[in-house]
Amino acid sequence: MGDKLFHTVQDIIANFAIVTAFLFITSQVIFKKRVFGETPTKFEKLKIGLIGGLLGTLLMFFTVRFDNTILDFRQIALILTALGGGFLPCVITGLVISLMRLFSFGPITESTWIAAANTMVIAAGVGMICRMSISYVKKWIYSLVICNVLTSIVFVVILGINRHGLSAAVLYVLMMSSGGLFFAYLALFLAKAKRYSLRMEKEATIDFLTGLNNHRTFDLQFNKGLSHAIEKNRHLTLMLLDIDHFKKVNDQYGHPNGDSLLKQVGELLKVASRDSDVISRIGGEEFSILLVDCPHQHALEIADRIRLIVQDHPFELNDGTTIHITLSIGVASLFESNQNDIIEQADLALYKAKQNGRNRVFSHLKLQENWNTP
Ligand code: GH3
Ligand code: MG
Ligand code: MG
Repeated sequence: MGDKLFHTVQDIIANFAIVTAFLFITSQVIFKKRVFGETPTKFEKLKIGLIGGLLGTLLMFFTVRFDNTILDFRQIALILTALGGGFLPCVITGLVISLMRLFSFGPITESTWIAAANTMVIAAGVGMICRMSISYVKKWIYSLVICNVLTSIVFVVILGINRHGLSAAVLYVLMMSSGGLFFAYLALFLAKAKRYSLRMEKEATIDFLTGLNNHRTFDLQFNKGLSHAIEKNRHLTLMLLDIDHFKKVNDQYGHPNGDSLLKQVGELLKVASRDSDVISRIGGEEFSILLVDCPHQHALEIADRIRLIVQDHPFELNDGTTIHITLSIGVASLFESNQNDIIEQADLALYKAKQNGRNRVFSHLKLQENWNTP
């Protein structure tokens, strides 16, 4: 008796450990950028459903041995996929578990069919509960009630209304209820931790005002682009773009309008650039565009196109009126001689553009003459 109880407790601990490890692995390795409970894409729905099915199957291998019957946490896999991904993933998980139950665990008997059908009914029920607009805790509680009631009935139907059937049902209810509360907390904790870490990651790399890369990301991307260009003997061009007389804009129209203008400039730069270009806000009203695989002459043409787009664009102020602003742009490209000072050369070209009257593009190769006069 003591031995049997020991095995049962050992099995319950193993089941807790499997689900816990699975939650950590899915959160940290399989879905690195996804937070539990967020609306999934079609592909993610399938992935969540299959992974839930894998968990359910694993749990069926590590059953809890108790009084000539077996119990496990497979229904927890259903609740986790329902709350983590929604109705469809939960039904997919249910299908995987049912099919595995039917075809991978010995001969198919009446009780195998009952267990598989029970899983599908619970999957549908739990899947529907996760669609209801109720709190996270209530979703768990309702799901656990469905699992406990239906599975207890199954135990009694298969084992009979006797000591065996009733004690299996009681142990199952205790196991699912304590496990449910623990995993509800763990999944919520992991989701919160993931949300915070993704937000911190974003805030550390993105400029909060424009949504462009910030200076830190620019540095990383620039160094990466430079090594790649040198190694592969590719073109690399850096544009530094600075808004002309921006201080006057702030003084005349106020800081909030200045901020709004910076955002609009960011949007224009995105529209005017290729997807592969790395656009950053590297200072107050200073931007940069890193062009990969773009020869110098072509980059100068792009820079002038951007200059004209900004010059002609009616920037909207908060009161609905519009104003015009201009940009000065310094452009420097990678050559064998200047691998270590492209940024300085682009900066010098920008300085020359300012000195020579602003609203113009200067190349580091032609610092004596502006590349394109407005
Ligand atoms: P220049 O043509 O020589 O570049 O003149 P400028 O006025 O644009 O340059 P300056 O460096 O003198 O001033 C930059 C101004 O940009 C000063 C500052 O108030 C403003 N600025 C910097 N960061 C922000 C910001 O985040 N929001 C707003 N609204 N203004 C900013
Ligand atoms: Mg400026
Ligand atoms: Mg500036």
